Amino acid sequence: MIRKKLATVWLDGCSGCHMSFLDLDERLIELSAKLDLVYSPLVDNKEFPNDVDIALIEGAVSSEEDLNKIRKIRRQTKILVSFGDCAVTANVPSMRNPFTVQSVFDRAYRETATREPGTPNQLIPRLLEYALPVHEVVPVDLYIPGCPPSADVIYYALTEMLEGRQPALSSRTRFGA
Ligand code: SF4
Repeated sequence: MIRKKLATVWLDGCSGCHMSFLDLDERLIELSAKLDLVYSPLVDNKEFPNDVDIALIEGAVSSEEDLNKIRKIRRQTKILVSFGDCAVTANVPSMRNPFTVQSVFDRAYRETATREPGTPNQLIPRLLEYALPVHEVVPVDLYIPGCPPSADVIYYALTEMLEGRQPALSSRTRFGA
């Protein structure tokens, strides 16, 4: 059997979707017989590799850094998956969307600062005007909703994709019938 290359990516999310991935527990050992985790916050590789078979994308696209990253990932990935509600709808990160970027920075770094108020001018990513769901930036092949998706749903989706099938997720998520 040809081993598949799996990547997991952390954009603007809380890492809860990755925690749910780790909740696969012993099923991770079973999956490790069929795939290699080639890029992830959980491994050391800092460069997104070529020819990735499946990429699970957690989080919204909120910064220029996210935007550049997801465009590169799309070019180098066969099946790109919006993984969790922040990727699917922008969810929690989009709560800033009614406000300007400047007013968000003022709130975070001046109005509520208890020490040295002032917006940092380095080491923070340049925010986009809006936090965006992944599909508004690049084509998405599969959506796994949930905040976070359950480990059972993640396992089902991965095993179906590993078998070359399109996962039928509508009856397995809260959006299903
Ligand atoms: S979907 Fe929920 S668990 Fe996943 S990154 Fe967003 S807030 Fe966190």
